[in-house]
Amino acid sequence: MVLVFAEATNGKFKKAAHEAVTYAKKTAEVLGTDCCALTIGEVEDAGQLGVFGASKVLNVGGPGVAKFDSQVYTAAIAAAAKEVGAKVIVLSHNSTGKNLVGRLAARLLAGSAPGVNAVPTANGDQLTVRKAVFSGKAYADVTLTTEYKVISLAGNSIPVEESGAAVAVESFSPELPAAKTKVIETKRVEGTTPLPEAELVVSGGRGLKGPENWGVIEDLAEALGATTACSRPVADVGWRPHHEHVGQTGVAIRPNLYIAAGISGAIQHLAGVNNSKTIVVVNKDPEAPFFKAADYGVVGDLFEVLPKLTEAIKEHKAG
Ligand SMILES: Cc1cc2nc3c(=O)[nH]c(=O)nc-3n(C[C@H](O)[C@H](O)[C@H](O)COP(=O)(O)OP(=O)(O)OC[C@H]3O[C@@H](n4cnc5c(N)ncnc54)[C@H](O)[C@@H]3O)c2cc1C
Repeated sequence: MVLVFAEATNGKFKKAAHEAVTYAKKTAEVLGTDCCALTIGEVEDAGQLGVFGASKVLNVGGPGVAKFDSQVYTAAIAAAAKEVGAKVIVLSHNSTGKNLVGRLAARLLAGSAPGVNAVPTANGDQLTVRKAVFSGKAYADVTLTTEYKVISLAGNSIPVEESGAAVAVESFSPELPAAKTKVIETKRVEGTTPLPEAELVVSGGRGLKGPENWGVIEDLAEALGATTACSRPVADVGWRPHHEHVGQTGVAIRPNLYIAAGISGAIQHLAGVNNSKTIVVVNKDPEAPFFKAADYGVVGDLFEVLPKLTEAIKEHKAG
């Protein structure tokens, strides 16, 4: 059995959870077994995970798991793995998954592969997974040889597939430790798709000259239905909030489209964005390093180029 932890936010699944279940189902097929999904906390319609390939869905509920706590969640996932006899555990490689992958591997004495991006291959009990290394400049094929294997799936790596039908949800009540930390407040950015899950991203750098000019980025993002991002110095000086900062020390993203305006393309910035499927760069300096990583480049003043792009997109959508 392959166990997948399908995370829900405010009771609802996001795309990352559907991707993880799809991936777990495909991994189970490779191993000739089934896939069980685990949900934690109050979740609407958890049985729908069957549509994405789970043959069984467990739910751990109750006040002890009402707020995320990595130790408690680790205990719940490990207990579920033992309960269903799963030796392979799949998580999403988002902030929750990154928090859990090492803890879970330590608890189960498992080999772990964080941030995988392709369906594994199997050789007996061994599983070979592919992941990006050296800031996305190369891939490594990693073979996990331990009895338990913990894998987290990078977002937007595989398409979501509907391969089954809804199943009944079974309640699972393992013994869980009390949380050692107390969550006082959770603040979520509402309204836009969070960067790790965004398929379209429009990003600005120091070339914007100041926070008062961000309208050109926001207008383009709105026309596309995209999420906004920025380079690190922009967040450091407070032009934009820190959660928008992408790169080596910020959020690593893999959208289908990344539009970068007024960003030079320093190696530390590229480290977080060069797994994007299509990169469009707008920069007035033809020698800007970002052009080497771009699929499409516009040499020009972003204050002229972006409004024209926004208008063209609006016209295209209207037509
Ligand atoms: C340890 C470490 C970690 C780091 N981590 C990160 C990270 O995670 N993310 C990150 O982004 N950076 C990171 N950095 C910083 C990184 O090295 C760069 O300094 C930073 O990415 C540069 O930001 P920028 O491209 O916005 O600014 P700049 O390098 O100043 O580039 C601005 C660009 O805008 C262009 N421009 C100016 N005016 C216009 C205009 N009107 N129209 C079009 N183009 C224009 C310029 O030609 C230039 O290419 C890190 C650095 C270190 C040392």
